[in-house]
Amino acid sequence: MESVVSSLKRELEITFNRIDLAKAELKNVDLNATDEGDQSGIAEQRLQAEATLKRLTKRKIDLEHALERSKSPLFGNCEDCDAEIPEKRLLAFPSTTCCVACQSVREARQRHYAA
Ligand SMILES: [Zn+2]
Repeated sequence: MESVVSSLKRELEITFNRIDLAKAELKNVDLNATDEGDQSGIAEQRLQAEATLKRLTKRKIDLEHALERSKSPLFGNCEDCDAEIPEKRLLAFPSTTCCVACQSVREARQRHYAA
């Protein structure tokens, strides 16, 4: 499980860097917005930068959550049904805290609420 924890830490570091970049990008868009220019293009850029920042922030929260959980003896077991999560899955998706079956239930629920 050690390698899962180290890849979590590495991913978290990368995500922090990307968040900084996304924030800088967002600031740039605002600076450009004061120029005479393509206003709809700027609005589009701003939306994209905000979406990226939102996605990265969610990723950061997921990674921090998984890292926190990695300190618990329950690490490696599904948060929802307690089944053991295969190590292959943990290595492929270090931020995951539930099994494939529960993940698809969660995603279906999210789609339901998003719709
Ligand atoms: Zn499960």
